Amino acid sequence: MIVILVGPPGAGKGTQCKKLVEQFDMKHLSSGDIFRSEIAGKTELGQKAKQHIDKGELVPDQLVIGMMISAVKDADYNCILDGFPRTLPQAEQLDIALDKENTKINAVIELAVNDETVVKRISKRRVCPECGAVYHLETMPPKKDGICDECGSKIIQRDDDKREVVLERLETYHKMTEPIISHYKESTAEYIEIDGSQQPKAITDDIVKRLKEV
Ligand code: AMP
Repeated sequence: MIVILVGPPGAGKGTQCKKLVEQFDMKHLSSGDIFRSEIAGKTELGQKAKQHIDKGELVPDQLVIGMMISAVKDADYNCILDGFPRTLPQAEQLDIALDKENTKINAVIELAVNDETVVKRISKRRVCPECGAVYHLETMPPKKDGICDECGSKIIQRDDDKREVVLERLETYHKMTEPIISHYKESTAEYIEIDGSQQPKAITDDIVKRLKEV
């Protein structure tokens, strides 16, 4: 099964994907996480991606499409996609690649959250640079102040979670990513809209219920 989670930055895509893979036998593929690990590894792709990520821009399609299509293939076409596709050409190239393998996207889940909520939420988001765990200082704080529950490292604010960059990322989302919503609404994939302003547990329950019907 192939599921896509779409929504603005800070909608909770990563948090929800981590919960969903506990309940459904699918691999979580996050393009943002792959870029962050390329950046940490100081690879050529990582250095190129960083120049765009730091400014709140999208990484150019030609650096993303091949990387993600091979990740989907490696996951045996059984995955939850988080942060990809983010542009119409990415969505179209993914459709073509899946079509060649006689497979298709089963469901697209939109986590709908307004801009104001995003800005508020992201200002309190913290991440673990070592294991990638994500926290929210109010709704999902770590047990010990400033320390990752999973691996004991110091948690930090992502550079691209700073307010000016978040505003830029939101503008990019409306301009570049929202067009994929009508693309998927017109496709054969089940389109599921979820109120992303709810608490994380309520969102997970809603998604699980709807995905079980697919
Ligand atoms: P995320 O963790 O999904 O918010 O991704 C962090 C950043 O990585 C984004 O703001 C983009 O700069 C870049 N990125 C992640 N996925 C994509 C994608 N599918 N296309 C272009 N850029 C991406």
